[in-house]
Amino acid sequence: MKELTLSDFTAAAAKIKPETRAFIDGEFVPARSGKTFATINPATGKELAQVAECDADDVDVAVCAARRAFESGVWSAMPPKARKKILLRFADLMERDSEELALLEVLDNGKPISDARSVDVPDSIETLRWHAEAIDKIYDQISPTSADVVSMIVREPIGVVGAVLPWNFPIFVAMWKFAPALAGGNSIVIKPAEQTSLTAIKLAALAAEAGVPNGVFNVVTGFGETAGQAIGRHMDVDCVSFTGSGEVGRYFLRYAAESNIKRVVLELGGKSPAIVLDDVSDLQAVANQIATGILFCQGENCSAGSRLIVQSGIKDRLLDTLAKTFKTWTVGNPLEPTTRVGAMIEEAHMNRVLSYIDAGREGGARILVGGRRTLTDTGGFFVEPTIFDGVRNDMRIAREEIFGPVLSVIEVADADEAVRVANDTNYGLASSLYTDNLHLAHKVARAIKAGTVSVNCFSEGDMGVPFGGYKQSGFGGRDKGIAAHDQYLQTKAIWMQLR
Ligand code: NAP
Ligand code: MG
Repeated sequence: MKELTLSDFTAAAAKIKPETRAFIDGEFVPARSGKTFATINPATGKELAQVAECDADDVDVAVCAARRAFESGVWSAMPPKARKKILLRFADLMERDSEELALLEVLDNGKPISDARSVDVPDSIETLRWHAEAIDKIYDQISPTSADVVSMIVREPIGVVGAVLPWNFPIFVAMWKFAPALAGGNSIVIKPAEQTSLTAIKLAALAAEAGVPNGVFNVVTGFGETAGQAIGRHMDVDCVSFTGSGEVGRYFLRYAAESNIKRVVLELGGKSPAIVLDDVSDLQAVANQIATGILFCQGENCSAGSRLIVQSGIKDRLLDTLAKTFKTWTVGNPLEPTTRVGAMIEEAHMNRVLSYIDAGREGGARILVGGRRTLTDTGGFFVEPTIFDGVRNDMRIAREEIFGPVLSVIEVADADEAVRVANDTNYGLASSLYTDNLHLAHKVARAIKAGTVSVNCFSEGDMGVPFGGYKQSGFGGRDKGIAAHDQYLQTKAIWMQLR
């Protein structure tokens, strides 16, 4: 097959005419207010499209439709095999339209086309298939009782699920939420991030084409303070699953407390450590993983390995290799297949990342690589991959989530100090550990307080493992794996006295 080039992708992108309306009760609709807002291409700074600006009224219509569909049983009571068939068809349709989905994601988000085609879209399809396949393989339970009682423990869909989403992995995180929610028989109302609505809207069209009944899958585009808050406060939403910042995550706990005590599941940020002990032998392999950990998705990754905690004996050699490796992560036009680092999501976020770089300098850390905005003449929001050496764990750049391609290097004397520094954070989402010592690998993996510890790689594992945070990185449940279903199911005890 011919390798696609920048001009192929540019030509294909120019042909896309994205749908920009909300999707409510099986139909594309404008916001009831008639308002729209601009979504921009972060690689050019130019407007891509005007998207429906839904608010509380639209959310209410969507939630009512979702409730009606749920109570009718059209999806919630559909035989598991039939539900599975529709979701598998949905996945097939995503596969059919995968090039368009990848391009839309790149245009709206600024991530490299090579990532969208090899990770975001295929992994999302796999996620949908994985949860669909689980539908008719999950059993309920019978508890041990005396012979005159039958005690069934059954799990039922919770009802109407709201999903409020971030902009960094628009398709993928949407899928982490709606695939298990739909698998369980729930109805869903999705509010994508305002910067990246287009792929969620496209997914709604595919869901309908696959046969997901009207009202079961709704997408309400708009702003957090209006549409997002309306979902959080709605008296008829049973569960909100949120991924985003800790600040907004806290709002959802408050919204729930002030409304109907809906279930709230939060996936929040991180300041994840990558620990390198001085026994590692393959420095290049370690450097490749560390670079991926902080540069994949421009560092706009909640599980980014943003603190490199390295033992003194290996530090200089590792940084030497790492600096060279960073140079191979080309920043460029996201539609160019060799680009590895795309654009920051928006100008304000780029400026935030740059202000952290200033704070690092002012705090006394030393820039080893990068440190500046780049490709300014494109109009896009690009930042150079950046390494700060001489970071102390109490500096702002070691404590706060930068959400950009900025690595903070902290030197430690031994494994014990590495663990202490790694755990000295409010977060606990992910972590990586590099060592050739099997004994230390086991001990340190247990000692790190994080939802994921990857050893000798940067990874969140595959679809089979749960993903979520310790401490202030998460609340209420886990995405991915079979545990993700728990978020959207509730447990009922049926105790039957026999005569
Ligand atoms: P964000 O500002 O928290 O926004 C997330 C979502 O919440 C968006 O849809 C947003 O709408 C909405 N929102 C904003 N204010 C709201 C309010 N007052 N009430 C209700 N909803 C509101 O986060 P972001 O900027 O999209 O993403 C970056 C952050 O997400 C980072 O801190 C990152 O660590 C975290 N993140 C975590 C994970 C994880 O799995 N743990 C994954 C990805 C990202 P608008 O789009 O209109 O603002
Ligand atoms: Mg955009």
